[in-house]
Amino acid sequence: MRGPQSSVGRFGFRWSKCNIFMWRAYLDRLPTKMALLRRNITVDNQSCAWCESNEETIEHILTGCGISAGIWNALSRWCRFPGMFVFHAHDLVEMHEHCGAFGIKKMVLHGIIIIACWRMWRARNEKKFSNKDPNVVEMVADIKTLGFLWYKDRFKQGVVDWDRWCTFDLL
Ligand SMILES: [Zn+2]
Repeated sequence: MRGPQSSVGRFGFRWSKCNIFMWRAYLDRLPTKMALLRRNITVDNQSCAWCESNEETIEHILTGCGISAGIWNALSRWCRFPGMFVFHAHDLVEMHEHCGAFGIKKMVLHGIIIIACWRMWRARNEKKFSNKDPNVVEMVADIKTLGFLWYKDRFKQGVVDWDRWCTFDLL
């Protein structure tokens, strides 16, 4: 089994970086191909690094691409929230408000969503700069692990263990 410590060193994961990333996504300040074009920066083509059949916007990477759909599907099964309809980075930031979760679950969901977006953007960069194909199963495992570390650090008291985390059986 992949231990809950194993991803940290690999990513140099820091929550503050995730938060800054999400803020930049919200403001559409990440260097997607369409965002670069808007700033008159030359790009070789306009298409998504993953599917190559849509314009590469931050919405497409984080919500519209087949890869991101796979991630959201897996996460909605894990955290038992209803199928999601997100079309904009703004929806992602507010999604935890609309999925029927309360209290700590809602706060945790918010964290997981941000970590998921951060991980997807990282995978997009891995494809673009290292030609590494995205692997949904691997990304979901990373999101669970990084989410668990963040959760333990954030809440400290009364947190559930890894096994319960894996079934999203929170207090
Ligand atoms: Zn795509």
